[in-house]
Amino acid sequence: MSQDHSAPLSTEASGLVRARRQVGEFEVTVCTDGTYRLDGGAMFGVVPKPLWEKRAPADELNRILLGLNTVVVRTGKQTVVIETGVGNKQSAKMREIHCSQELLPRSLAAAGVRVEEVDVVINTHLHFDHCGWNTTLQADGSVTPTFPNARYFAHRGEVEHGRLQLDRDKVSYLAPNYEPLIASGQMTLLDAESIRKSPGICPGIAVEVFPGHTAQLMAVHIESKAAGGAAEHACYISDLIPTTAHLDPTWVMGYDLDPVETIAQRKRFYERAIPEGWLVLFTHDHEVPLAQIGVNDKGRPVVI
Ligand SMILES: [Zn+2]
Repeated sequence: MSQDHSAPLSTEASGLVRARRQVGEFEVTVCTDGTYRLDGGAMFGVVPKPLWEKRAPADELNRILLGLNTVVVRTGKQTVVIETGVGNKQSAKMREIHCSQELLPRSLAAAGVRVEEVDVVINTHLHFDHCGWNTTLQADGSVTPTFPNARYFAHRGEVEHGRLQLDRDKVSYLAPNYEPLIASGQMTLLDAESIRKSPGICPGIAVEVFPGHTAQLMAVHIESKAAGGAAEHACYISDLIPTTAHLDPTWVMGYDLDPVETIAQRKRFYERAIPEGWLVLFTHDHEVPLAQIGVNDKGRPVVI
């Protein structure tokens, strides 16, 4: 690849393309479905507000601004999409509550990505804000795959959990985001056994389960080696660490099904991500969608 990907895109100014980096031979672009707002207390669990609001200011309704980052990886052979935002199937009431904007189709277009060219779509889990544009609600009321030629991947445990429609989190699992793709055979469901045997989705792209937010939350590893260079590694860590304000292992979300496990899994993640200098891709950080992580003089993980 001879293009200079360090040059800023002209469309970045419009906010539709959040970042673009080269990882080895792969081109990694952060697109966005726009921003949305969630309760700051829910986003920071037991952390007292005077502490979290220094990192994430709250509005008059106590909500903080979050991003909805979709990552597009062009490997040279495949075009891979990680996560698909909130989508256009929200009710008017939910749209108003979240102030969501349904920008992903425009963001992909601004980044030069045609939906027809996408080969692979990976959902780290099946909460509504991670798989919304898997499918598109058409004017006639039908729901169609947004990426007609893609193979979609999600974890079978997420589908099974969503189908239970538990009181705790049924609002997060919306069947039109994944059931039509399972029914048509376009979505492949992974499980512990299939991931153990073969974590690779395609060359340079692999998944790994990091439980806590949900029992089967998957991170997506991106690894590529440029000619003559060392292997470079990026990781979409999804809701294990949703924003750079959540880097402290104990700053976990009220939404997490198992917050104690989240703390343990964040530490497990840092054990490799920090010494190996991974580029970390954040799912809900609108301003800092990607960063390298280091440790400050108090031993706390920080953006470097
Ligand atoms: Zn999320």
